[in-house]
Amino acid sequence: PDTVRLQGVGFGYAETTRVLRDVNLTLPAGSFHFLTGPSGAGKSTLLKLLTLAERPQSGTVEVFGEDAGSAPRSAIPHFRRRMGLIFQDFRLLDHLTAYDNVGLPLRLAGVKDEVWGPDAEEMLTWVGLGQKMDVHPPALSGGEKQRLAIARAVVTRPDLILADEPTGSVDARMGERLLKLFQALNKLGSTVLIASHDEALAERSGARVLRLEGGRLTGGEA
Ligand code: ATP
Ligand code: MG
Repeated sequence: PDTVRLQGVGFGYAETTRVLRDVNLTLPAGSFHFLTGPSGAGKSTLLKLLTLAERPQSGTVEVFGEDAGSAPRSAIPHFRRRMGLIFQDFRLLDHLTAYDNVGLPLRLAGVKDEVWGPDAEEMLTWVGLGQKMDVHPPALSGGEKQRLAIARAVVTRPDLILADEPTGSVDARMGERLLKLFQALNKLGSTVLIASHDEALAERSGARVLRLEGGRLTGGEA
């Protein structure tokens, strides 16, 4: 089945009504899309519907072929186990080292320490943090935190990667390198959706580009 299917989705907050209007979106398994649009257009909100952090007020949200839009809160872990989430504000665990931040999702998935160690090291090296494994997040730069958040999100090889402004805090060269990481994971089978202001990066990526403006999504039909 398609990894994501939204049909006729409408959503608003109490203070900001009608953030999303009649949004239709299909993300086929193994696809790679950018989600662009001006600040405040609703990119993060759309991702929240996909992570089940918010529910649609109209229309349907299907993830992994299942009804996510009306699933009970208790079903959230069931869906999120298969997702790699990169939040706009990182949400790192400050009391854990970079290495343990990356290892945590594997540990939670029941993978033994001696098994996940090499995976965590490989991912940290890939994002350029091979020398910072023992450092805690408060001692990292903004761009380093961002790269750590990406390493943590993708180390489990999730079926669906949802990244909110994953290159917002890094320079152009690192942005290209992170894009290559997402492309490599996509080749290994992950469906990828990246929300980004960076229209130039979106165009260069060769991925399909969705655009959100005035609550409407264009480019979303498969
Ligand atoms: P940016 O590019 O700046 O990250 P965005 O496209 O991700 O913007 P959203 O964060 O989805 O935009 O916000 C869409 C609209 O919803 C904005 O008008 C915002 O002020 C409003 N909004 C977002 N979160 C909330 C919330 N928790 N409560 C009320 N209004 C909200
Ligand atoms: Mg946002």
